[in-house]
Amino acid sequence: MNAPEKLDLLGFTQSQLVALLEELGEKPFHAEQILKWLHHRFVSDFESMTDISKTLRVNLAEVTEIHQPEVLQVQTSTDGTRKWLLKARSSSAIEMVFIPEDTRGTLCVSSQVGCALDCSFCSTGKQGFNSNLTAGEIVGQVRVAVQALATDYPDRDRAVTNVVLMGMGEPLLNLDNVLPAVELMMDDLGYGISKRKVTISTSGVVPGIERLTETTDASLAISLHAPNDEIRDQLVPINRKYPIAVLLDACRAYARTLGEKRTVTIEYTLLDGVNDQPEHAAELATLLKGFPCKINLIPFNPFPGSGYKRPGSTAVRAFQNRLIAAGHATMVRTTRGDDIDAACGQLKGNVEDKTRRQAKYRKIAGG
Ligand code: SAH
Ligand code: SF4
Repeated sequence: MNAPEKLDLLGFTQSQLVALLEELGEKPFHAEQILKWLHHRFVSDFESMTDISKTLRVNLAEVTEIHQPEVLQVQTSTDGTRKWLLKARSSSAIEMVFIPEDTRGTLCVSSQVGCALDCSFCSTGKQGFNSNLTAGEIVGQVRVAVQALATDYPDRDRAVTNVVLMGMGEPLLNLDNVLPAVELMMDDLGYGISKRKVTISTSGVVPGIERLTETTDASLAISLHAPNDEIRDQLVPINRKYPIAVLLDACRAYARTLGEKRTVTIEYTLLDGVNDQPEHAAELATLLKGFPCKINLIPFNPFPGSGYKRPGSTAVRAFQNRLIAAGHATMVRTTRGDDIDAACGQLKGNVEDKTRRQAKYRKIAGG
């Protein structure tokens, strides 16, 4: 029989560590020491934790391990965007992207290997679901990036100022791991990133949004992509289960818990001829009237076989201007890292294409 897999220490929040210490018959204050070793000094072995007793180190090593995702490949774009291919514990590969801007640096991390939700314009969705990442693997991505970028921006306090869960996967279908990871990103004993600058993005898993309301105050982004249910049903299949009105209600409830000055981000991927027409902008402006949000327009990032096209820049600007004229704060997300396929919806790790995988299964099954 195989030995049971050890717990992934990198994903432990302070309160979870305190509970573990209690089980080991140790004092709670060691949690703070351990977190600093893990997330401030980046040690990867128990021996180096010199301010805790030998007994505790041995006991910890017996039940836990420190497993930082392994870097398989790094690519840097001509615009400074960097993309990592990382190995998860399940041995699948995931992707992470760092986007440097004038005053901030945004890290885009993955929450799952693949995704089950199958949005029609998303490369990750095309591959189907493979596995959930552990909390340690999610926060471990931040750990990899913070170390790698430590000396690259000497004029700034920190290279990674923002984290968005907009890489591979649907974070709200892996909340048991996402919540502790996000807590560690925001905790001063972890990465100390402001709650306003850690953003969880969802395609609209309403029960997940309701759970967020009780568990976190991180920022929320909604992948809306359509001004009505008819179009959204086609683009984002989960809309058939949780239609727009239900989704926006859940978001309103979450926004209320965040306080007055904070809003939800609405993501809207513009697809040529599908959801980018003047009437769509008008309908969207009406739909979001009075809703506390800012809108991010993302011109579609093509990938082979997607069947969609990116609208021209004039159409994108016209769409933006219509929303602005209706009083909505609206930004266009410029595509970065084009030369290394680092844009939204282009991340794919090394999960085999779903159609290929299905063909293989059929073959095995003799079909
Ligand atoms: N599953 C989550 C987070 C990951 S996707 C979600 O859907 O929100 C991050 C964002 O990229 C989402 O808004 C998603 O709809 C968008 N996206 C996916 N594929 C894209 C593509 N090819 N071009 C532009 N945006 C895309
Ligand atoms: Fe999954 Fe988000 Fe892609 Fe939809 S857009 S398939 S929810 S990763």
